[in-house]
Amino acid sequence: MQPFNTGMLNELSNLLGERGLLVEPDDMAPYEADLIGVHQGQALAVARPQSTDEVAAVVRLAAEHAVVLVPQGGNTGFCGGGVPDGTGDQIILSLDRMSQIREIDPVSSTMTVEAGCPLVRVREEAEAVSLDFPVFHGGISSQIGGNLATNAGGNNVLRHGMTRNLVLGLEVVLADGQIWNGLRKLPKSNVGYDLKQLFIGSEGTLGVITAAVLRLTPLARARATTIAAIPDPAAAVELLGLVRREIGELATAFELIPRSGLDLHLQRTEAAEPFMEQYGWQVLIELESASTLFDLDAALETVLATAMETGLVTDAVLARSEAQRSGLWSYREGIALAQVETPGNLKNDTAVPISVIPDFIEQATAVVGSIAPGAVPIPFGHIGDGNIHFNINPPPGSDPVAFVASWPDLTSAIEEVAVGLGGSFSAEHGVGTEKLAAAERYLSPIERELMAKLKTAIDPADILNRGKVIPAPR
Ligand SMILES: Cc1cc2nc3c(=O)[nH]c(=O)nc-3n(C[C@H](O)[C@H](O)[C@H](O)COP(=O)(O)OP(=O)(O)OC[C@H]3O[C@@H](n4cnc5c(N)ncnc54)[C@H](O)[C@@H]3O)c2cc1C
Repeated sequence: MQPFNTGMLNELSNLLGERGLLVEPDDMAPYEADLIGVHQGQALAVARPQSTDEVAAVVRLAAEHAVVLVPQGGNTGFCGGGVPDGTGDQIILSLDRMSQIREIDPVSSTMTVEAGCPLVRVREEAEAVSLDFPVFHGGISSQIGGNLATNAGGNNVLRHGMTRNLVLGLEVVLADGQIWNGLRKLPKSNVGYDLKQLFIGSEGTLGVITAAVLRLTPLARARATTIAAIPDPAAAVELLGLVRREIGELATAFELIPRSGLDLHLQRTEAAEPFMEQYGWQVLIELESASTLFDLDAALETVLATAMETGLVTDAVLARSEAQRSGLWSYREGIALAQVETPGNLKNDTAVPISVIPDFIEQATAVVGSIAPGAVPIPFGHIGDGNIHFNINPPPGSDPVAFVASWPDLTSAIEEVAVGLGGSFSAEHGVGTEKLAAAERYLSPIERELMAKLKTAIDPADILNRGKVIPAPR
């Protein structure tokens, strides 16, 4: 260890105490690798401040000693953004001890919460006052700061937009240790540049988010949920159009479930097939309303009947109780979880305009077949947002380690298909280190230059999450 680091660690230890600074390899290990075990680094230390002032003091020390900080939330991110590099010189700044809910204001429908609060707790506390924070996805141990820093998507984007649509104010520690208190509860405030939006989605490269004012929505008191079997992805897109035309904004989730994903989920659970017969493609549709005055089941049944008459839907199961609803959702969420546990599973996160989803699935399936014959595509997820996760399992019976060697080619080919169809190489997971090369390839020179200028203006010494989102200077 270099002497300047020893000095800094002593200062950090005085500041944060024993629980607030981890330096032993065993203690640091859980913070050095992400949850899915794909990205692994080595840290000099893990700092665990308990207050915004402590975060600011840590950032000031890091700036003084020119040590890079890696902000970290629940470590569920898929792009390596919260993991240090392999040098052993960077310090992980974990927000896990800053998890207070500072205020819930039911009249303004806001919650002011610290960054380290788990997303599940935010949702539970909102529900306790008959409100909802509708960011909802499978990264169940993620923290609200991580959701903001990655601008997380999830299953309710169709209705509520991404995380950035649900934030009214932020508190951020800047790269020089200053604290920006932008914790306003205002849905309307046109005062020039919307600074909070700069930090949302910046993946810890522009500031450390320490707290946020979240916009809460009325809690759904009525829901209608179905799994419908469809002939192919083109029918899914047509059905989405029908549902939105006939039922409008009450459609909250519209998720694609392929046979390959369903099989994976069924193999690792005792769940039964959703239908008497096996079908190749299905969609999970959910309607929600805060009002109990509308008959959502009847609306959904009417649309499904129309869809069956025209051959868009072959079979459908409606949830008649909350238990049945969570059973139907487990078919969708189980796919994501099963893949986390599947050795060699490759995750992709692209988006295309909804109208070309069938072309995307067809073209991506063809390129996978040519690069890795026998590999199993699992195109599933947020069809209502054009965000199909074109994930891939190794060929059955093959060595997953050997399959990993084909990941870069497969990922590039799928990104190429998505971008070629007018899409994005990253829909909701971000860039981190994982998608740096894609950002270089697909963002225009003007976009890259603007991003680099912003980074230099806000973090001139490149203290915050160096080498994430924007390549580190060579
Ligand atoms: C099974 C599973 C399903 C998932 N499904 C979805 C999904 O449907 N939609 C989706 O969008 N994501 C999904 N994810 C990915 C992940 O949950 C999200 O990206 C989440 O927002 C990351 O939050 P986190 O707290 O775990 O952040 P981390 O992984 O710890 O960090 C992610 C990034 O945010 C930065 N960061 C974290 N906290 C802060 C902070 N306080 N200030 C500044 N920067 C910070 C980190 O430096 C890093 O760059 C899924 C993950 C899993 C494991």
